[in-house]
Amino acid sequence: MPTVSIDKEKCKGCGLCVHACPKKVLALMEQELNSKGYHPAAPVRQEDCIGCAVCGLFCPDVAITVTR
Ligand code: SF4
Ligand code: SF4
Repeated sequence: MPTVSIDKEKCKGCGLCVHACPKKVLALMEQELNSKGYHPAAPVRQEDCIGCAVCGLFCPDVAITVTR
């Protein structure tokens, strides 16, 4: 099963990956802050991930790793 992981310290909470994902796997963690003060993105529906890696292409900070 494909997995997506996000380095939350690299994430700046821009939300591009959240909107790019065709399966709505990702969301910004409104209750969480990283050390730079951003709400990081995280996989909230990992089981729906199809491993397309579109999220990783959109991330300007190379914070996303997709494993197929
Ligand atoms: S790999 Fe594709 S389906 Fe999985 S989280 Fe990224 S954009 Fe969504
Ligand atoms: S695109 Fe990258 S920096 Fe932007 S919210 Fe997603 S993981 Fe964070």
